[in-house]
Amino acid sequence: MHNHAPADYDCPFCDLPSEREPDVVYRDERVFAMICPRWWPRNPGHLLIIPVAHHENLYDLPAADGHAIFDATQLLARAMRTAYDCAGVSTRQHNEPAGNQDVWHFHQHLFPRYPGDDLYRTPPAARLAPRRPPPRLRRPAARGTRLVSVQEATMALERSVAMVTAKTPSTVPVR
Ligand SMILES: [Zn+2]
Repeated sequence: MHNHAPADYDCPFCDLPSEREPDVVYRDERVFAMICPRWWPRNPGHLLIIPVAHHENLYDLPAADGHAIFDATQLLARAMRTAYDCAGVSTRQHNEPAGNQDVWHFHQHLFPRYPGDDLYRTPPAARLAPRRPPPRLRRPAARGTRLVSVQEATMALERSVAMVTAKTPSTVPVR
């Protein structure tokens, strides 16, 4: 419904590039979540939460996938709050060109938030975040705004997802 993908669209979420596989921090039968490689300068390490099945937008999304996305978003919000020591989180989800959608497969953003970060009036960084920290900055996964690489964000979140899942099994659907 109200679709914009070209007929020969090569979907980057249905066929995730192999170099992006390590950035996936959560996966179940219906949903996966990965660190978005394009960072907002004051909100590094935000997540994309994506249905496994290809649905272009919110209008088309089956309810079961929508419910699974919400469950995963809640789990990942709890994990992000701990992993990054952020002061809050925000979600954003875009549909159609007028809504700034740029990948034609539904995805929800989950951002870490900090006081005064001015997320909604800040453009994303011009370059993709580095995959690994520069050697002089290599250290155990950092917290908060000191995140400098996708690898650090992934490590911090994976640990936290495991902790949240273990602590709150009732919030995780049994599949
Ligand atoms: Zn797709």
